Amino acid sequence: MLAPASTISALLDRALSGKDLTPQEGVLLLQQKDPAVIQQIQQAADELRRSLVGETVTYVVNRNINFTNICEQHCGFCAFRRDEGDEDAYWLSHQQILEKAGDGVTQGITEICMQGGLHLGAKIEGRSLPYYVKLAETLHETFPAVHLHAFSPQEIQFIARGDGLSYAAVIAALKGAGVQSMPGTAAEVLNDAVRRVLCPEKIDTATWLEIVETAHRLGMPTTSTMLSGHIETPEQQIEHLEHLRSLQQCAQAQGNIGITEFILLPYIGQDAPKPLRKKVGHDQPILQDALHLTAVARLFLGQWIKNHQPSWVKLGLDGATEALRWGCNDLGGTLMEEHITSMAGAQGGTCMTVAQLQGAIASLNRPWHQRNTLYEHLHLP
Ligand code: SF4
Repeated sequence: MLAPASTISALLDRALSGKDLTPQEGVLLLQQKDPAVIQQIQQAADELRRSLVGETVTYVVNRNINFTNICEQHCGFCAFRRDEGDEDAYWLSHQQILEKAGDGVTQGITEICMQGGLHLGAKIEGRSLPYYVKLAETLHETFPAVHLHAFSPQEIQFIARGDGLSYAAVIAALKGAGVQSMPGTAAEVLNDAVRRVLCPEKIDTATWLEIVETAHRLGMPTTSTMLSGHIETPEQQIEHLEHLRSLQQCAQAQGNIGITEFILLPYIGQDAPKPLRKKVGHDQPILQDALHLTAVARLFLGQWIKNHQPSWVKLGLDGATEALRWGCNDLGGTLMEEHITSMAGAQGGTCMTVAQLQGAIASLNRPWHQRNTLYEHLHLP
């Protein structure tokens, strides 16, 4: 629904004054098509970013490790998963994982980001948790100074379900083994009608929320993500953002860090399974839509989630740099290796040097600063 410019201006002023937008207001912002109104939204998101977190754009030096592509599920957008026995199925040994992490450490990483497929082979005597605990312990004991950011809510449920444990027991065990924060992935769109099409075997919305809320309660921060630009409607996008906002309100009321950042992950379908590709009708992100949603997410999440990151893997470095003008204040990590999105046909690359990230930020005449996983600025020699 198009709205008069005065309505949009009043709504943007409210967001800039620190008030929370209602879901109806969020949807209204997403429905705007007039380029002049979209520009107004972009400017407001940029201004809110400036007032909440300043001009500095941050980045993290990290190494991504996807330890297996063998997965029991079949998400509609996933070109990464393989069955055991497939020619290009892999499952890294602890030694191989340590070598990758060690290579990252020599390049100055402060974070290892690790996720993998849901591999039943991880079970030892009918239990998966010992495999995951050993993996985390091995990395943490070898590289104690490196922050271990690992295991999605879907992986937590996979372990809990297989081993007959509570989510809290699994998260506490992983925390004890050295996991310091969790990726807020597997969220896709937090709406069960969308999930039934996109990822019918994955945890439902309530389970995702329960696991992330449990993590926060146990003092385990998470990130938050949204897979956008496929079959979802503006109403469903805002419903997703509202879930994240409520989670964060709850975490902060309990004195926990909760969600450290919001990352928008636009859909890539080039090499994804055909059925969903046919429904979606495009293979690469539509940059303008992603930017519009980036700005509305900044305005809707307001003071609750202050750090917003575009995905250079999805948008390419140029697209991600442009998103820094639409409400984002972080350019993500160096990654050094990425499989999940690149195998779906993303053209953004799988590795970024610090110089590339700094150069992109400098091209906007904004200062840059290296951060750690929890968004503390680092002062390295
Ligand atoms: S997205 Fe994750 S859970 Fe889904 S099929 Fe791919 S690897 Fe498995």
